[in-house]
Amino acid sequence: MRIRLPKKDEDALVAIALRARERAYAPYSRFLVGAALRCGDGSVIEGCNVENASYGLCVCAERNAVGSAVAAGRRDFDAIVIATSSEPPSPPCGMCRQVLAEHAADLAIVLVNTKGDRVRTTLKKLFPGTFTSAQLRSGQRAALRTASAGRR
Ligand SMILES: [Zn+2]
Repeated sequence: MRIRLPKKDEDALVAIALRARERAYAPYSRFLVGAALRCGDGSVIEGCNVENASYGLCVCAERNAVGSAVAAGRRDFDAIVIATSSEPPSPPCGMCRQVLAEHAADLAIVLVNTKGDRVRTTLKKLFPGTFTSAQLRSGQRAALRTASAGRR
């Protein structure tokens, strides 16, 4: 299902993502990222990247938005706007693509930068061949079959 994102809704999400970007905690990379994640009920959850002196602990804006949304009881998303200052606007990293795919395989994505450039795409386009819970369950069933066969 392809999500349609009317221009006025996109504009509102872009403004929210750019505002969230201003709150990013990125003293190490100075690469500020903001995200506006629209939920199925129309509510919008914001995220920004939060870095740490222990670099491996840095969390992207997109994953922070998903975590906040889940904590608020929302797990169905239809669109996300991701704001950076890069040219062209940056897409989500691979880790964030996987996290977004857990909840919204057909997410509409708008990439925006501080100059106002926009790139419209979808998670399906950016992240084909997603690892899903179906594959996990299939592997678990196979492991259980192997384990029970070994008990005989
Ligand atoms: Zn990321």
